[in-house]
Amino acid sequence: MVKWCSETPDQLLPGICYCLEDAGVPWAVTFKCPCGCGQPISLNLIGGRPVWKATISSQNQIQLHPSVWRTVSCRSHFWVRNGRICWVK
Ligand SMILES: [Zn+2]
Repeated sequence: MVKWCSETPDQLLPGICYCLEDAGVPWAVTFKCPCGCGQPISLNLIGGRPVWKATISSQNQIQLHPSVWRTVSCRSHFWVRNGRICWVK
């Protein structure tokens, strides 16, 4: 489920993807790592490198491209497809 906000929320709830927007333009998404480690993940949608492409369905589910691969701590690697986490083995 996607929640729109203009600033990064102080507390991230699991299972919710926060879409940061400025004047209606989404520029980043942030969410809790789905592995359970509790670390926040932030992804750029515009500018910067790497940058992700986010698609939000009419059911308010997010899809991200490319996959998310944490290079630190838990090293989780997964795709977000239609609001679901698809783990990469
Ligand atoms: Zn993790």
